[in-house]
Amino acid sequence: MRLGIMGGTFDPIHYGHLYVAENARLQFQLDQTLFVPNRIPAHKKTYAVSSAEHRFAMTRLAIADNPCFQPSRVELDRPGPSYAVETLRLLRQTYPDAELFFITGLDAVIEIATWRRHEEVLQLCAFIAAPRPGLSPKTLQERLPAYALQRVRLLEGHHLAISSTDIRDSVRRGLSIRYLTPDPVVEYIRQNRLYLSDTG
Ligand code: ATP
Ligand code: MG
Repeated sequence: MRLGIMGGTFDPIHYGHLYVAENARLQFQLDQTLFVPNRIPAHKKTYAVSSAEHRFAMTRLAIADNPCFQPSRVELDRPGPSYAVETLRLLRQTYPDAELFFITGLDAVIEIATWRRHEEVLQLCAFIAAPRPGLSPKTLQERLPAYALQRVRLLEGHHLAISSTDIRDSVRRGLSIRYLTPDPVVEYIRQNRLYLSDTG
């Protein structure tokens, strides 16, 4: 089995994430993709991150109509800071025969050499790097050593200039977020009054 892992804060999940995951599924013949909301330790918060349960609920709603996508609580249910290496070790145990593909935006991939135990991370999974506006794929060559580069594949497709930061900002300013994320997520945000103030 070829298993995709799409990690993120997902605050909220949006069509950028969904488009990238679907494209990766097709381009790399993934059988299943897990959407893994990250646990954010209090000291790492740079803004008022929504509760894990809100982020998980929105993720589940957003992917409900795709049978190849599954939400995963592997990071939310684990105490302590969630390092990718630990998540990957756990997934390796749960799916011993799977080939693991970590799907990330280019902005995240160029940081992998700074990740905790990144040599082990690179053994456990390959990376699928999605284009993001403003970052050229050439940055990969500049920022990553050869041993990391050989584990990174580039995803083809459109550059979608959607970010969770912009969505939170739009809600705060009373602008529409419809068509940036699936309708059930828009409705969830409205009903739970998320992102209305700076403090979450
Ligand atoms: P924030 O603005 O809060 O940082 P985000 O939109 O970057 O949110 P994250 O949850 O941080 O979303 O992203 C999870 C993963 O999805 C990261 O690897 C990120 O690079 C990737 N990603 C997010 N948005 C896009 C997009 N529009 N195109 C490609 N990749 C994306
Ligand atoms: Mg981000």
